[in-house]
Amino acid sequence: MTRFLDGEEELEDGQQDFEQKLRPLSFDDFAGQDKVLENLRIFVAAANQREEALDHVLLHGPPGLGKTTLAHIIANELGSGLKLSSGPVIDKPGELAGLLTNLEERDVLFIDEIHRLSPVVEEYLYSAMEDYRIDIMIDSGPAARSVQINLNQFTLIGATTRSGLLTAPLRARFGINSRLQYYSVELLSNIVERSAHILKVPIDANAAVEIARRSRGTPRIANALLRRMRDFAQVKGNGTISLEIANYGLEALHVDTYGLDEMDHKILLCIIDKFKGGPVGLNTVATAVGEQAGTLEEVYEPYLIQQGFMVRTQRGRMVTEKAYKHLDKKDPNLQNGLF
Ligand code: ADP
Repeated sequence: MTRFLDGEEELEDGQQDFEQKLRPLSFDDFAGQDKVLENLRIFVAAANQREEALDHVLLHGPPGLGKTTLAHIIANELGSGLKLSSGPVIDKPGELAGLLTNLEERDVLFIDEIHRLSPVVEEYLYSAMEDYRIDIMIDSGPAARSVQINLNQFTLIGATTRSGLLTAPLRARFGINSRLQYYSVELLSNIVERSAHILKVPIDANAAVEIARRSRGTPRIANALLRRMRDFAQVKGNGTISLEIANYGLEALHVDTYGLDEMDHKILLCIIDKFKGGPVGLNTVATAVGEQAGTLEEVYEPYLIQQGFMVRTQRGRMVTEKAYKHLDKKDPNLQNGLF
């Protein structure tokens, strides 16, 4: 199974270095997401002029669209330090207190997967975000007492793939709320060319477009595919990623012309073959394909839905006519409709 869609926490060390290298460092280097960027530029400029901390920012959208990258860029543009953490890692209020008390004036704290913070930790975050102070308990038993700690003014950037899971009080404490969208083929092909340039690997323009077309609207996938195509070009070609090499390599990785991989095929075929095209519940599909329901919902479904292969209805998931056509399957509903 390909690893292109895996969450950030599962990236191998090599891939993390690679991502680091390709990460844009300023607003000007960041491709796409024009509306989000236009607003962020204004808010950052205003905070810089007032010499204040930027308001807290919530970024939501599927994995690999640039949430972490934007956090780096915002910190750079503010001329501030950046601390990175994630919801599941901060499992005790003490850990959050440690992170917060180490922040300098106007620093940025990035919390990935913020919807996975434990309720106790989340509660501590409220006063930190609102009043820049936290109350922590020291000692236990009869000697226990609460101590108030004032924090430097900081900016929290929260990232989430599932904004629906965020509690209302937490959501309300973010002054800036931005949703990232999937990228167009044109933008992704620019990103592929930029990355190829950084990696010093020659690539033909039509090969960059082909990689972009099959990257599910996601820069992380585009870069990961580019990395693999570089290997194919080196071993099977003359070092240049040509259209021929790209087609060969993408085929070898089982990435189809819409960018759907083996797992996408498995999901659609499962709904078609086992559940007559749906509607079928998320958990049932997840069990049938051997994947976690959360991963299906956050990682695979958004693209299948955006591309019109699947719809979410109140009664469950259903595949569309486009899915039947793409997978070369007969749509029983259409046949019925003929008579
Ligand atoms: P997320 O945090 O949303 O999962 P990341 O910010 O880690 O995604 O982005 C994954 C990779 O995609 C990064 O290595 C970055 O280089 C690349 N990337 C993301 N967005 C862009 C963009 N707009 N322009 C260029 N590269 C991007």
